[in-house]
Amino acid sequence: MSEPLLEFETVVVGGGPAGLAAACAAAEGGRRVALVDDTPWLGGQIWRGQKGRPRQALEWIGRFQRCGATLLDRTSVIAAPHPGLLMAECDAQAREIRYTRLILATGARELFLPFPGWTLPGIMGPGGMQSLVKNGWPAQGRRVVVAGSGPLLLAVAAGLRKHGAKVVCIAEQAPWRKVIGFGFGLLAHPSKLCQGAQIKSHLLGVSYRCGVWPLRAEGAAQIRSVTLTNGQSTWTEPCDLLACAFGLVPNVELPLAAGCELKEGFVLVDSWQATSVKGIYCAGEPTGVGGADCALVEGQIAGYAASHQPARAQALFARRASWHKFRAALASAFALRPELKSLAAEDTLLCRCEDIPLGRMRQHDNWRDAKLQTRCGMGPCQGRVCGAAAKVLLGWGMESVRPPVLPARVRSLILGEMQNAKCKMQNGE
Ligand SMILES: Cc1cc2nc3c(=O)[nH]c(=O)nc-3n(C[C@H](O)[C@H](O)[C@H](O)COP(=O)(O)OP(=O)(O)OC[C@H]3O[C@@H](n4cnc5c(N)ncnc54)[C@H](O)[C@@H]3O)c2cc1C
Repeated sequence: MSEPLLEFETVVVGGGPAGLAAACAAAEGGRRVALVDDTPWLGGQIWRGQKGRPRQALEWIGRFQRCGATLLDRTSVIAAPHPGLLMAECDAQAREIRYTRLILATGARELFLPFPGWTLPGIMGPGGMQSLVKNGWPAQGRRVVVAGSGPLLLAVAAGLRKHGAKVVCIAEQAPWRKVIGFGFGLLAHPSKLCQGAQIKSHLLGVSYRCGVWPLRAEGAAQIRSVTLTNGQSTWTEPCDLLACAFGLVPNVELPLAAGCELKEGFVLVDSWQATSVKGIYCAGEPTGVGGADCALVEGQIAGYAASHQPARAQALFARRASWHKFRAALASAFALRPELKSLAAEDTLLCRCEDIPLGRMRQHDNWRDAKLQTRCGMGPCQGRVCGAAAKVLLGWGMESVRPPVLPARVRSLILGEMQNAKCKMQNGE
C-alpha cells in the first residue's frame, strides 16, 4: 500500500484568507511551504468561486501564486495521527503529508439550531445558499426569508437580491439596541463601515427586523412559510426558501485531533498564534470569529512566526489588536438570546443524519453517552451540525475528536493507523 509521501517545512491547512496570508508570509521568507485545501478554489468561504472576486481576494491569490508555495487543492486533511504527520485524501487516494511546522487555518461553519420544520427542503444556511447561487443555482423570482444572526445575513440577502431573488425580510435575533451599538463601533473600522453601507444600499426596501427569530417552518415537500416572533407577537411569512443560521462555529476538530488546547470553544493561541502544541500555529476563525480582515492579519503573524521572522510578526500586533476589538464587539452584539434554546420540541430532530429527536438526546448526560446510545453525530456530518447545536441547547462540550475529522475512505484510515504505528516504533514508544 505505498502512497506518495509529501514533505514540507511548513504546511498550512486551509486556503481561506488566514491560510493564504500564512502561506505567503512563510514562503516569502524562503521556507518550503504547502497550502492544503479541500476545495478546488483558493479563497475559503468568503472568496470561494471564480467569478466576481473582490480586489482584495485577487491581490492575495496573486501574491500566493507568486510566493513559491505548493498548492495541494481538493485535498482533505482527515487526521493528525502523530506529531509531524497529517493524513489526507485527494482524488480518493490517501496521502501522507509530513511537516516541521503546521499552521491550522480551518475556518468556521454555520451554526444551525433546530426548530419545528427546520429540515424541510428549501431551508439552508445563508452562507450555503449564497455559495449555491454564486455557482449558478437559480434564485430568480424566488421568495426568500433570511433569518438567524450576524452581519452575514445582510451580505447574503444583498447577494440573493442581486441574483433576482425576492428577499421577503431579514430577521435578526439580536435586539436593535445591540445592533445599533455595533454599527456605531464600525466607525473605528472605516473599511467595514464602507462594506456595510454598500450592502445596505443593495437592500433598499427590504425590511431588516431586529429582535425577531423563527418559531417554525411549514410545508410538505418544500417549505411554504415560516412563522416569526419578536417575543410578543407572531406572524407567518409565505416563502419559497428560508436561509437561516445563527452565526458561525469554529472548525476546531483538526486542531483538537492534533492535541491543541481550546479555551471557551476556540483554539488557544499566544501572541505568535502558537498553539499549546510545539510547532503548531493556528489563525483565523478557529481562534475566534472576527471576519476576513482579522483572519488575514492573524494568518500573516502565524506565517512569519512559523518561519522565524519575529520582527515582521510583531509589526502586525497592533493591527491584530484592533481587529480583536471588532471580534469582541461582534460576539457581544450578536450573542444568542436564551429563547433560541427552547425552539425545538421534544420530537424535533436534533441529529438529522441519524434521525434522533431532541427528546431522545435529553435522556443522556453528555455528548459521548448520547453518541454511544443513539448514534447521534455518527452520520455524514460527523457531529458538525448536531454537535454544535447540542452544545447550545444542552450545554454539552466535545471533549475529544476521533479521526477522521472529515468523511474518509476505510483505506485511508488503515494507512493512517499503519503510519501511526510506524512512527511509534521509530520513536520507541
Ligand atoms: C458558508 C460561509 C459563507 C461565508 N460567506 C461570507 C461572506 O459572504 N462575506 C463575509 O464577509 N464573510 C463570509 N463568511 C465568513 C468568512 O468565511 C470569514 O470571516 C473569513 O473568511 C474566515 O477566513 P478563514 O481563513 O479563517 O476561514 P475560511 O475562509 O473558512 O477558510 C478555511 C478553509 O479551510 C478549508 N478546510 C477546513 N478544514 C479542512 C481540512 N480538514 N482539510 C482541508 N481543508 C480544510 C475550508 O474548506 C476552507 O476553504 C462566510 C462563512 C461561512 C461559513
